[in-house]
Amino acid sequence: LAQLFRPLDMLGMVYREIRQGLIDMEAMFGLIDTPTEVSDAPDAVPLAVDGGAVCFEGVDFAYDPERGILHDVDLTIPAGRTLAVVGSSGAGKSTLARLLYRFYEVTGGRITIDGQDIRTVTQASLRANIGIVPQDTVLFNDTIGYNIGYGRDGASQAEIEEAARGASIHDFILSLPKGYETRVGERGLKLSGGEKQRVAIARTLLKNPPILILDEATSALDSRTEAAIQDTLERISQRRTTIVIAHRLSTVVHADEIVVMEAGRVAERGSHAALLEARGHYAEMWARQQAEREAVVEEEEVAA
Ligand code: ADP
Ligand code: MG
Repeated sequence: LAQLFRPLDMLGMVYREIRQGLIDMEAMFGLIDTPTEVSDAPDAVPLAVDGGAVCFEGVDFAYDPERGILHDVDLTIPAGRTLAVVGSSGAGKSTLARLLYRFYEVTGGRITIDGQDIRTVTQASLRANIGIVPQDTVLFNDTIGYNIGYGRDGASQAEIEEAARGASIHDFILSLPKGYETRVGERGLKLSGGEKQRVAIARTLLKNPPILILDEATSALDSRTEAAIQDTLERISQRRTTIVIAHRLSTVVHADEIVVMEAGRVAERGSHAALLEARGHYAEMWARQQAEREAVVEEEEVAA
């Protein structure tokens, strides 16, 4: 009988892996139909991380050969540092994240982590070392404990609670009628945008990756919630190599380097102060957003 069940077990495993892969993609990019044409090289080895320095070297990319999306992009993020990527919608920011996670293969140049071309390592080891907090987090119709524990297979209740504390959502969870057993999602308790992002942060803390991507992680939140979540994100990005993709510039001021993307190219780069001084696109975007921000904060204060 055991022999009969073993193949079923295997099927279950494969199913879980596929499901996990699909859900990661959806969760990260809000896409269901992303094709994964990328497979491991026959001699692929596990990624060996030592700090997690990330480099994009002359990266070109096109989803469709007719239309180039990224052109000769060079990025260097030393281990443990933070790079911010800003630029208008459609500039290619999320594409950088998809390429680092290797949903797609670069069409020119290369991406390395601690000197290893990501095409030479197994996808499982690559993805195990990268955590992503997306703009909109997908919750499963399951308990809040499950939704956090999903960050790492086999996590204990104590580990789940520690991650929740790190994401400043533990006390909130304890205040729920059934605590960690409370069901959330479409058929359970509806969490606010900020609470959902804290669940995503807790998931990521449980995964504890050396490399972190925050893809517009706070852009769906009102400015007060954003400020609160921002503190938590800054805390978890310490000692991790971090790429912050942001539409709102207020969240990138403290980055070690800021890159402005425009139509798939790096248009400007430097620190916040240097970019303001350069009086280019960044300075212009900053001035515009400061004005908008003041108006929005006023509106929110009137509403409250
Ligand atoms: P950003 O994150 O800066 O808003 P993206 O990296 O998501 O921009 O997209 C860059 C460009 O690539 C856009 O023009 C977008 O339409 C295009 N694009 C994004 N995803 C796909 C896809 N799966 N297939 C084809 N084109 C895509
Ligand atoms: Mg994007």
